[in-house]
Amino acid sequence: MSIISDMIKYSRLAFSVRGFLRGTVSLEQSKQVIAARFQNRERTFLSIVQKGIYGNPKSPFLKLLEVANCEFEDIESMVNQDGIESTLHKLLAEGVYLSGEEFKRKREVVRGGNHFQFKERDFDNPFLAGYYQVQSSGSRSAGTRSIFDLRHQLEKSYYTLPMLAANNALDFPMGLWTSIPPCGTGIGSSLRYWKVGKPVARWFSPVDESQVQVSLPHRLALRYIIYGSRLWGAKLVKPEYVSFADAVKVAQWMAATKKQFGGCSLQCSASLTVKVCQAAIENGLDIQGTHFFSGGEPLTEAKHRQIEAAGASVASIYSISEIGRIGCGCSGAGAAGDVHLFHDSVALIQRQRKVEHTDIDVNAFLFTPLLPSAPKILLNVESDDYGVMETLSCGCLFGQLGFDKHLRDIRSFAKLTGSGMTIVGTDFVRILEEVLPRKYGGAATDYQLLEEEDTSGQTHLSLIISPTVGAVDDGAVIATVLSELHRVAYIGKITAELWSQAKMLEIKRMYPISKVGKIMTLHLMKKE
Ligand SMILES: [Zn+2]
Repeated sequence: MSIISDMIKYSRLAFSVRGFLRGTVSLEQSKQVIAARFQNRERTFLSIVQKGIYGNPKSPFLKLLEVANCEFEDIESMVNQDGIESTLHKLLAEGVYLSGEEFKRKREVVRGGNHFQFKERDFDNPFLAGYYQVQSSGSRSAGTRSIFDLRHQLEKSYYTLPMLAANNALDFPMGLWTSIPPCGTGIGSSLRYWKVGKPVARWFSPVDESQVQVSLPHRLALRYIIYGSRLWGAKLVKPEYVSFADAVKVAQWMAATKKQFGGCSLQCSASLTVKVCQAAIENGLDIQGTHFFSGGEPLTEAKHRQIEAAGASVASIYSISEIGRIGCGCSGAGAAGDVHLFHDSVALIQRQRKVEHTDIDVNAFLFTPLLPSAPKILLNVESDDYGVMETLSCGCLFGQLGFDKHLRDIRSFAKLTGSGMTIVGTDFVRILEEVLPRKYGGAATDYQLLEEEDTSGQTHLSLIISPTVGAVDDGAVIATVLSELHRVAYIGKITAELWSQAKMLEIKRMYPISKVGKIMTLHLMKKE
């Protein structure tokens, strides 16, 4: 696509930003919108299925429903009789779902003897304008591209003030330490905080445009949104590059802001949260009473303890860019990483399955977005996450709004998560089983990746190399892994850059860990 056509497209994007920025969303309005979504939940679901699936010949789910012999009227009567979740369970039993591997097109979809080849864009919501597409990375998503739609950003912004209110963070300045486009997290947050009258005070980016070689269209889009917004009177802050090693700069900003305003909040990944807290402790900076909103990776007990050691509090944000905002924690949440499920805009059911390349069984999440503005039309799609879902009452604002379903112990099973970036497991398996043995000798089973968390809550990745491989240069092996990661489509470059900055990868010479006599390429920690 030519630069000129990109410029025209982004001019349209900048223009649609004007409509988005008009008017401010209040807390009262947010509550009303959420109540209306609950009230119209079944009707909205049926309308999405009717128009987005039965009325959309490209929809992969239309093909799966045909195999299951299921007409729209069947779904309608099931929903009216037993509700959405029960209908989704029945559809799952009939093969109407996609595993994470199938959704990412890493595995052929076979149902009832029929073989299907779906394309990534077949899942796109056909009712969105699609001026601009971003890639997932910061959130726990598949590394796929999604439409960046301002109507969807508006729908998500109705959660923003309730999230701040449920965490006693309404009255204090907010900062971001999130990546720049092609990742959509930072720019989306910046727009939504403006929309609710709480503009972001500082936006730190852990990656630099030149380092990760951001393409011209993405650099243009960021500028069009920021400078376009200024034309319409919204002074969105520009991202400032702050590397992992400079976490103290973010801690200094938080301490100074707390001193001036009595409080401060920061939205970033769980690993970056821990880095800020460590930097504050090491440098004697007072961030007591400040609050973190952490997304992108599990907020484990160890990470939680490290944040509490700095006197700060934290809430998990659970988001997947293809699906939307899924949940958020509150100040009353019991377990670390507990979130209220936003079931006004997403339906979630679970199924037992085995994790590829491991011998682990998990209770996987299957999502169905319920917003007409969702970037993709999905029915029972796995996110590669598993965890515990339960109904609990909570006295916070989320509880009052009707969010009584909670998720906890959310973990990713098909990809590794390091410092807020995800890398699809199967890409890593190729590097371990093919690239490394070819270059350094040994067999596929001589290399293993081990994900561990230290007592301070930092996630470490160890690359285990069997002693039988013989002498190898550790630095060269790490360089090979990072350069191979660079070649992985979409988020490879950013992941490699962050991993090298955070010195995430360490070589261990030992025999790969084996369970039940099998050596699994990826040895992931599973919380019992
Ligand atoms: Zn709560």
